[in-house]
Amino acid sequence: MGAATAWRLAERGVSVIGVDQFAPPHPLGSTHGLTRLFRVACLEHPALAGYALAARELFRELEARTGRRILTETGGVFVGAPDSQVVAGSREAARAAGIDVEVIDADELRRRYPQQAGVLDTDVAVLDPNAGVADPEQYLSAALEAATAAGARLVTGTRVRSVDVDKDGVTVTTGAGRLRARQAVVTAGAWLDTLVPSLPLDPIRSPLTWFAPRQGEGFGIADYPVFIRQLPDSTIVWSHGAREGEDVKVGLGDIGVDHPRIRADELDRGVSPAETAELSAVVSRVLPGLDPTPSRVQPCMITRTPDGQFLLGRVGPRLVVGGGDSGHAFKHAPAIGEVLARAVLDEEQVLRTDFVDPLRFGAP
Ligand SMILES: Cc1cc2nc3c(=O)[nH]c(=O)nc-3n(C[C@H](O)[C@H](O)[C@H](O)COP(=O)(O)OP(=O)(O)OC[C@H]3O[C@@H](n4cnc5c(N)ncnc54)[C@H](O)[C@@H]3O)c2cc1C
Repeated sequence: MGAATAWRLAERGVSVIGVDQFAPPHPLGSTHGLTRLFRVACLEHPALAGYALAARELFRELEARTGRRILTETGGVFVGAPDSQVVAGSREAARAAGIDVEVIDADELRRRYPQQAGVLDTDVAVLDPNAGVADPEQYLSAALEAATAAGARLVTGTRVRSVDVDKDGVTVTTGAGRLRARQAVVTAGAWLDTLVPSLPLDPIRSPLTWFAPRQGEGFGIADYPVFIRQLPDSTIVWSHGAREGEDVKVGLGDIGVDHPRIRADELDRGVSPAETAELSAVVSRVLPGLDPTPSRVQPCMITRTPDGQFLLGRVGPRLVVGGGDSGHAFKHAPAIGEVLARAVLDEEQVLRTDFVDPLRFGAP
């Protein structure tokens, strides 16, 4: 969110300094691990289709400017009972956005995607041709390159200790000294509430997990599209094809699932087999072509809000925030940067922002 905001502001000629405690891209926050699902028919909220379409254009612009490959469109398959959150939500999002999606029955699903086991006769699948896989590290590098090319200054390896607002501007106190600015945009991911307290945020741990195909075929990025499947017990499982030399990433949905709140600075970066036991059991049942013992696990974090939607916009005359990613913000990142840049400059928004207003739960 911060990289895109720096880019969109610098592009408009605004004087920008971006500060990060690490050196992005890095594996210590929420934006790492080689792949993220990109979808346009976003079941989390019908208005997010507009964000995804705007983000896709900006991803393509970054690719053209930097020569980096960010987004690979593979199509997406959203499976479950017709009235399940995954199927009904994706269809509703597609309808609201005017996107054409195909709906296929269980037999056709089994025929086209034999990697999926245990499909019920009553299951259906929604096919979104716009879905795909986006690369977080390539995106971050491209956005930061575009930001610096447009004049932004980046200060990395420097922790922000506080952001103090007064009537004339903000003082950002870092480990390396103080910065003075007219406004601050705080996009600190799982650390956001340490800099802007009282926002309704719940950071949780959510590891990235990869599984090796048993046969080495059928799970390449070209033959295995982005999948989200809701099982009869409501468990949501997602996966997508592996890039050359990588294994298949699989995960469980976090919506409605209880997770202990964490402090980002104290994230346990170890990995225990117990933590991945539930995911391994699901992989055995629904993706028997994969070895259910993870080949790799990498810690990551999600920052939840009470309604599962982001917090994007102005919280005070000198302060804009971007956060509360709720586990689905990466695909929208450059569009989020554009929304935050418009918020800083009090420009009219093109995308709908009422459902992401950071003040919708009250003032921080
Ligand atoms: C397992 C998993 C799977 C996911 N899958 C998807 C997916 O398929 N599709 C999708 O769209 N999204 C997905 N997401 C969500 C997505 O990855 C996040 O929404 C997104 O990466 C959040 O970006 P961010 O900019 O908010 O946070 P971050 O990338 O963490 O950025 C915050 C930055 O702020 C810096 N920072 C924090 N505090 C300070 C400080 N005091 N001083 C200086 N710097 C500071 C941090 O170092 C960090 O670089 C997934 C997330 C997880 C965990």
